[in-house]
Amino acid sequence: MDMRRPIIAGNWKMNKTVSEAVDLVRQLMGLVAEVRDIDIIVAPTFTALHAVSREITGSNIDLAAQDVFWETSGAYTGEISPPMVKDVGCRYVIIGHSERRQYFGETNESVHNKIKASLAVGLRPILCVGEALEEREAGKTFDVIRIQVFQCLDGFSREEMGKITIAYEPIWAIGTGKTATPQQAEEVHAFIREQLGNITHPQVREAMRIQYGGSVNQDNIGDLMAQPNIDGALVGGASLTADSFSRIVKFQKT
Ligand code: PEP
Repeated sequence: MDMRRPIIAGNWKMNKTVSEAVDLVRQLMGLVAEVRDIDIIVAPTFTALHAVSREITGSNIDLAAQDVFWETSGAYTGEISPPMVKDVGCRYVIIGHSERRQYFGETNESVHNKIKASLAVGLRPILCVGEALEEREAGKTFDVIRIQVFQCLDGFSREEMGKITIAYEPIWAIGTGKTATPQQAEEVHAFIREQLGNITHPQVREAMRIQYGGSVNQDNIGDLMAQPNIDGALVGGASLTADSFSRIVKFQKT
């Protein structure tokens, strides 16, 4: 029996006005209303969170923020805190996406602080990890992933670890149309699970959901999800239309 419930999240990145976001989620709700066996999440921009939150109330879709700051309130112009994200209706928060690491100076240390602050208010963090192409080609994939997992998740309790999802997103596969093969992805997912054994209880290690991200679409989702350690997907481009995202969510039923 698979103890890990599939989790499919759409990261809308810096796309959609409020009205476009509302249109998208309305269409999506119609298309996935019957889905009961999968956690479905959308991550709109901060400006659209409130409107989307109102639309999805009572539905089978959960809300995530794409990032968060680690302080609760104060003189941090432009930042958004975990209690604010919680207050607007988010259940999840994506933390450490490679675009934040690449363009906004996110480090494993800041990611750790953001996870800690999010857990403190009851948010469920989705921690993104993944190697760059040069790192893969230099044979460093496992070293990079091991360091990311250890530094980002160091020191959390068993209960806290139980609230976290990991998204493995090889940077070379994000937005490039180049998906890792199911075997390449499974190899890293299995490695992440093994590494978790060094920092948490075996039950938490087995229960932790590990999503794959990187050019996931309706054609490759089935083969990815068939892998024993792939428990879901974090979807960028293909989450921007209700048709393609709903087909990914319903992969088992097509
Ligand atoms: C992402 O940004 O999390 C992602 C995986 O993007 P894409 O699906 O577009 O590759």
